[in-house]
Amino acid sequence: MNTLEHADGPAPDLIVPLVGFRQWRLANGVLTSMYDRAAWPQDGVTASCDRGHSSAEVPAKDCSCGVYAYYDPCPRTASAATCDLIGGAVVLWGRIEAHMYGMRGKHARIVALELPLSHARKRRAVIEAGERVGVPVVPHRSLKAVALDYGAVLQPSLRPKKTLTRAANVWARNGPV
Ligand SMILES: [Zn+2]
Repeated sequence: MNTLEHADGPAPDLIVPLVGFRQWRLANGVLTSMYDRAAWPQDGVTASCDRGHSSAEVPAKDCSCGVYAYYDPCPRTASAATCDLIGGAVVLWGRIEAHMYGMRGKHARIVALELPLSHARKRRAVIEAGERVGVPVVPHRSLKAVALDYGAVLQPSLRPKKTLTRAANVWARNGPV
């Protein structure tokens, strides 16, 4: 069961995993975080904190810890500029911190990858990456629908209109990690 917290205090427990969207780099066939280059294994990742929050506290409210994901799919063109940047969908579960445009979660797992628009070689590489982590590779227009087989979107009423914590600033600076 998820525990959701945001600027207005604890929200009701959520029963289903939450669907989010993010990007990865594809490095030698391995999906890695865009920022710390950590590999994303098939069974998912669990966030830790390098500022001293315990496992039970991650993601902490006034911190940048946690696995980041946007509420909405990244723009179709966001991954087109480079050969190694790819978009996809995740589910987050465990403790969740909600922000304006996305959330930070304790645990995350990839549920689908997005088929690139062009570059035959990149398309092949993404399809192979999807096979390796056991998730479907789908066109951008289908990404959200496919992801919803694995979880639910966070209701807009539970998303803060604005976030005043330091973590929100970190979010704006760094984007999903
Ligand atoms: Zn932390």
